[in-house]
Amino acid sequence: MQQSFNPFPVYAPAEGSETKLPRVFIAPQRYVQGEGVLEQTGQYLQLLRVKRCGVLASKRGMNSQVTQLTPGLVKAGVEMVQGIFGGECSLSEIELHAHNFKASKVDCIVAVGGGKCVDAGKAIAWRLAVPVVVVPTLASNDAPCSALSIIYTDAGETQGPEWYADGPALVVMDTAVVASASERYLVAGMGDAMATWYEARVCLDNPLGITTIGARPTLAACALGEICAHTLFEDGIAAAQAVLNNTVDTSLDKVVEANTLLSGLGFESGGIAAAHSIAQGYPSIERVHANYLHGEMVAMGLIAQLVMDSKNDEARKVATFFARVGLPIHLGQLSLDPEDNKDLDAVAEVATAFPFMSNMPLDVTQEVVRTAIADAHKLGVHVFANEGDKAYQRLHTV
Ligand SMILES: [Zn+2]
Repeated sequence: MQQSFNPFPVYAPAEGSETKLPRVFIAPQRYVQGEGVLEQTGQYLQLLRVKRCGVLASKRGMNSQVTQLTPGLVKAGVEMVQGIFGGECSLSEIELHAHNFKASKVDCIVAVGGGKCVDAGKAIAWRLAVPVVVVPTLASNDAPCSALSIIYTDAGETQGPEWYADGPALVVMDTAVVASASERYLVAGMGDAMATWYEARVCLDNPLGITTIGARPTLAACALGEICAHTLFEDGIAAAQAVLNNTVDTSLDKVVEANTLLSGLGFESGGIAAAHSIAQGYPSIERVHANYLHGEMVAMGLIAQLVMDSKNDEARKVATFFARVGLPIHLGQLSLDPEDNKDLDAVAEVATAFPFMSNMPLDVTQEVVRTAIADAHKLGVHVFANEGDKAYQRLHTV
């Protein structure tokens, strides 16, 4: 089994040297997106010379998406060994599948599912030193393209990131699969993706800013984040409507790429800042953790980041878009009470301690975070009164 990997010392300048931290850009080797590409997965696996793959998916995934891709594997002469994903990306789950797939002598892992299944697939592949192929079934997060997983305990508490030296060998994103899932997932993915540009820009502009792999951001990663934001502003609402109608159109195509590829590359090599730090704080409240998606919390975190950084016009623009597309923009929409100091202090404590909060160009204390959350809430209430009623109530009943 391969040892753990940490990119930070790899890219660090030699001790005592004058060399500065380098700019680093990493990415998966191939990204394929289209309507119906799931069925072509076997054909694409020939690029990797795969003979026997280990397919990781939930029981439900095995009965739907894996059934769809199986004839393609048979046609391509690729054998398949199945592993049922138990639902949590925990070390015990990872070790169990790594052990079984190793015994079956697989030469590739194919992870078919949501963020946690995809992350577990990456972790298993790293341990077996084989390539990982990611087949996302949702466009709700930017996990598919990155070379890291978030590890949880068996009880579902976050343990922290695990990095890998290699990104996925192939990502197969079927837009028809996204269109058949709930609209809420695509919309949550837009919250996660919208933050990419604003967070990468903070890291680029701050000479001390570092990315999630411990390097300086590249202009390339920031440019991907910027086009990601533009795409969402232009096509986000139409794409949400397409999923609601269970159809694939050009706007959905663009937004799936924004949520998955542009955001994935942008956050990993561009860096994260206050939006994700605050989003990490919200799950410390159990009812928020249980009822809301990562991207919905990032949306709230992004408005707070922009307010904290005195970018009030941008905060209003982003909040208006979020309201129209159906993302939460005030605390009540995350079932939080703005007067509840105990809850908000807990969020601020976790957010302030999150390592990438230090990418912000100001000294971020708990007080600063509390004030930003309160100011963002006030802005959100105001914008919601003008914009938010239709979209949000259509999606959620809180
Ligand atoms: Zn995220």
